[in-house]
Amino acid sequence: MRIAAIIVAGGSGARAGGEIPKQYRSLLGLPVIGWSARAFAASGVTEIVVACAPEHRDFCRDATAEIANLRIVDGGATRTASVRAALAAVGDADAVLIHDAARPGLSPSLIHALVAELEAGAAAVAPALSVPDTLRRADASGRIVDDVARDGVMRMQTPQAFRADTLRAAYAALAADASMTDDIAVVRAHGVEAKLIEGDAKLMKITYPEDMAMLERMLGGDRITCVGHGVDAHRFGDGEFVTLCGVRIPHSKGLVGHSDADAGWHALVDAILGALGEGDIGAHFPPSDPQWKGADSERFLRHAAKLAERAGARIVHVDVTLLCERPKIGPHRDAMRARTAEVLGLPLNRVSVKATTTERMGFLGREEGLAAQATATVERPA
Ligand code: MG
Repeated sequence: MRIAAIIVAGGSGARAGGEIPKQYRSLLGLPVIGWSARAFAASGVTEIVVACAPEHRDFCRDATAEIANLRIVDGGATRTASVRAALAAVGDADAVLIHDAARPGLSPSLIHALVAELEAGAAAVAPALSVPDTLRRADASGRIVDDVARDGVMRMQTPQAFRADTLRAAYAALAADASMTDDIAVVRAHGVEAKLIEGDAKLMKITYPEDMAMLERMLGGDRITCVGHGVDAHRFGDGEFVTLCGVRIPHSKGLVGHSDADAGWHALVDAILGALGEGDIGAHFPPSDPQWKGADSERFLRHAAKLAERAGARIVHVDVTLLCERPKIGPHRDAMRARTAEVLGLPLNRVSVKATTTERMGFLGREEGLAAQATATVERPA
């Protein structure tokens, strides 16, 4: 049986803007959509067609670059239109499996179970789970208006699997502007009987922000929490400002260093590298290399965050302490915290920036320079 897979990754008119859509975000080091594409590729699927929003084509191509026999087509205004566009691009196949990109927990065994049902004669088959919770209907104000019997009520999942001719006939008969929430609905509207098999809790759809962390736990195996520590110091020299945690602060002196001498972020980069066991900042950005001369330390911090992502790690919390008599850090602390959170893609409550003096003692007290210490707490595969 020649099997094609369609992955629905969004259509045109999806929310635009700078934020990376959930299906292209990293889950344990692999983009969400990559999990499903890999599962299909590992299951003998001969062809994969991804329907994605035209404005996200670059994300989609990067996320699926390693997968052979995968093509990307523009999605439509609705899920149904996206599937229709992808189906038109599917070549010669006996069966078509249609899957939501936002369900990364797809296993080859589930794919095999669906295909086995088609081989046994089913025209349409989908995974589904029973509903363990009591169901009630409520109005918009939260007032209960009815009890709902949950006997036989099933939560539908994907991939949904179809004989190719059945699916094509159902889509051909469907009104051009019809919009259905899944493809079993499309074939049922065409009078096709559909079958359900036992679904998989790991096939949960990423809907809420906390779902990513839940899937990390379900798909990631054993995880450990590591704390990295970093220290840096830079000497004062001529200048009119210092840059600390990405924020330029007017001062009667500058900081001397090969890059922008942002001791706060340098300490933080070392802390993240430490938690990952990836050496230190000097190994990644040698001071002898002229390309780092005057470099904005944002590049170093982004590099550390990228290494964490590639390792399937998650930065849980960071804490930077700046040590200096002057300039006064207090007025700039919130801006430093916000910049650090922005670059690392962390919520503000997981980023701390604080400062202390050394009571005029030592090189810091004599204002020969300033220093920083940082910790990074990172959760990563064991
Ligand atoms: Mg430094």
